[in-house]
Amino acid sequence: MLSKPVDVLVIGAGIAGASIANQYHRLGVSVCVVDGASGPGQATSAHDGAITHPALGRTASRLHRLALSAYRMVELDCDGAWDHRGVFALAKMGTDLDEKVLQNKLTQLGITSDIGEYISSENAQQRFGIERAGVWFPGAGSINLAGLCKERILSCKGLQTIWSSTIEHLELKGDLWRAFDKNGSCIAKAQTVVLANAFGAQDLLTSFAQKLYLKPVRGQLSIFRIDQQADLLDCIPKINLSGDGYCTPPVWDPETQSHRWLVGSTYDENQNSTQPSAASDAHNRQLALGLLKPQTIDPAKLTVADQFVGVRCVSKDRLPIMGAISGMPNLYVATALGSRGLLWSTLASALIPALSHSSDFALERLARFGLDSESLALLSPARFLAGALASNSKPIFPLGSKAR
Ligand SMILES: Cc1cc2nc3c(=O)[nH]c(=O)nc-3n(C[C@H](O)[C@H](O)[C@H](O)COP(=O)(O)OP(=O)(O)OC[C@H]3O[C@@H](n4cnc5c(N)ncnc54)[C@H](O)[C@@H]3O)c2cc1C
Repeated sequence: MLSKPVDVLVIGAGIAGASIANQYHRLGVSVCVVDGASGPGQATSAHDGAITHPALGRTASRLHRLALSAYRMVELDCDGAWDHRGVFALAKMGTDLDEKVLQNKLTQLGITSDIGEYISSENAQQRFGIERAGVWFPGAGSINLAGLCKERILSCKGLQTIWSSTIEHLELKGDLWRAFDKNGSCIAKAQTVVLANAFGAQDLLTSFAQKLYLKPVRGQLSIFRIDQQADLLDCIPKINLSGDGYCTPPVWDPETQSHRWLVGSTYDENQNSTQPSAASDAHNRQLALGLLKPQTIDPAKLTVADQFVGVRCVSKDRLPIMGAISGMPNLYVATALGSRGLLWSTLASALIPALSHSSDFALERLARFGLDSESLALLSPARFLAGALASNSKPIFPLGSKAR
């Protein structure tokens, strides 16, 4: 329990909460992070192989532009934190294999040469040992998400933390929010509360008649064991690969005297079991085969050393939810990061402090990346207000108005 009220209480210490708390701390406001787990990054953010790179979607939609701006933020924020730098995004079979077509697509999508570079299959064979055309994103990479959560919280001197405490409900009294645990004890008071607790955000908002329409999407990553001398090891490029699924480079494990090769993942809608399954490993073996094409490997040689299973929190329209809760003073949410935890948590860490404190630092950071209020309104929880999805009405976005 906190002895004094804080400026900001962040509920949830996954990648969303850790990134947001870190940014508030930089602003110089007093912050407390509370989580039901015994430390940071223990739920869906508990894996050590998250990748991020710009999507090679079909059109330069507003969402694509938003994601690209967020990606530029990630490049900057994660510099020095990547485990393996660079991602090679394999071109889809068909027209994308044509250099001109792919180059045009990159231009259309605003992917400039400093972000992504077309690589022909011959060039890829020479550089990466895989005969496939694609786009090399040198500033992208793979990262230990759980490690990043720890780093973002534990590096903040003076940031307060409360572990193993689940917030059961919130109450606003005067201008202070009070957060209560299951015993009815008030464990923290704060001027501003940020719900960065994935599905838990819905539980806390239900009493305020707010609905976020979240659904679970289970995902399993398989870590295959590759013996040192196996021919298989020669077939695997030593870079992050993304296509149908993704894989990170094999990593030597001195304990087992073998390499660990992470491949994934499944996308099991409306499932929330965190038990590993053999069927998911079989699915990931097929993804591995697809990623290594045109080389052929024997999937039976991919023995499972380990697995990671998590449940992605996904919104009705698959976009993340971040912004102010309408009608609730100084209450914000950052959830539904889906499969793009690193990307959207980085954006949320710039957006939420900008909304709550209108600080020049946070606002300037958003503007620098070309983020305008109209695009960011796409992500506002207000879009779920009755009828908002069915009509053309624009969601409410209170950027610029000092909410405190
Ligand atoms: C198999 C798989 C592969 C993935 N690969 C990638 C990838 O390559 N790249 C990428 O960017 N993303 C990836 N993701 C997505 C990414 O992992 C998630 O988007 C991200 O971890 C979600 O972070 P979060 O902070 O929103 O939620 P979480 O990490 O789940 O954190 C929420 C926290 O809130 C706490 N909490 C909940 N309710 C309460 C409460 N009432 N009181 C106190 N604490 C509470 C929980 O204990 C938890 O610690 C992947 C996901 C899966 C499952």
